[in-house]
Amino acid sequence: MNKPCYYLLIIFLIISVIFLMDFMKIKKELALLKQKQTITETNNTAQSNEMKQQTDNLKDYKGILEKYIKEQNSQPDNQRESNSGSRFIPDIRPVSEEAVISQTFSASHPGIDLAASTGTEIIATAAGRVEAYENDDYFGNLLVLEHFNGYYTYYGHLEQIYTATGRFAEKGEVIGTVGSTGFSTGPHLHYSIQKDGLFIDPLSLMKR
Ligand SMILES: [Zn+2]
Repeated sequence: MNKPCYYLLIIFLIISVIFLMDFMKIKKELALLKQKQTITETNNTAQSNEMKQQTDNLKDYKGILEKYIKEQNSQPDNQRESNSGSRFIPDIRPVSEEAVISQTFSASHPGIDLAASTGTEIIATAAGRVEAYENDDYFGNLLVLEHFNGYYTYYGHLEQIYTATGRFAEKGEVIGTVGSTGFSTGPHLHYSIQKDGLFIDPLSLMKR
């Protein structure tokens, strides 16, 4: 091979390598871009699912409140008062009859403790919107229900939570199970009722 021809070959090889490197770089960038796009799409899907869930929850409230208003309006005037809001008044027991009251209501203990075996079902004592907390230092797994009329109910030390924040619980619906999570020495339900910001003795409302 003569000299100029040799140089040409070298130059050609260098150009080829540079071109190949560029090509690889572009390919890599394209792959990264695609990955980014996929992530964005996944996030968008997650976001729209969450929005859908929230919309469904709102539809739930709307449906229940509409039904409730319809029921109230269809009642004769004299019955309307006695039934008014009973669905939203926490006046039933949160656990089955067998549960024993192991601690009563006092200034230092603004609720009652109901001792029952682990796994005993806990029911919502009135219809309301759920706030769920996991691993609270004191109450462990805790549910707080807002009943839209100044009433709130608290269910502490749960083993399992069957509902979630933002959900609507119907009166009598099973929302969790008795446990011993948080600051607790044995399986029991801590149950509190708050009315207009003050804790009241749940026994004063319980029908049975
Ligand atoms: Zn307690």
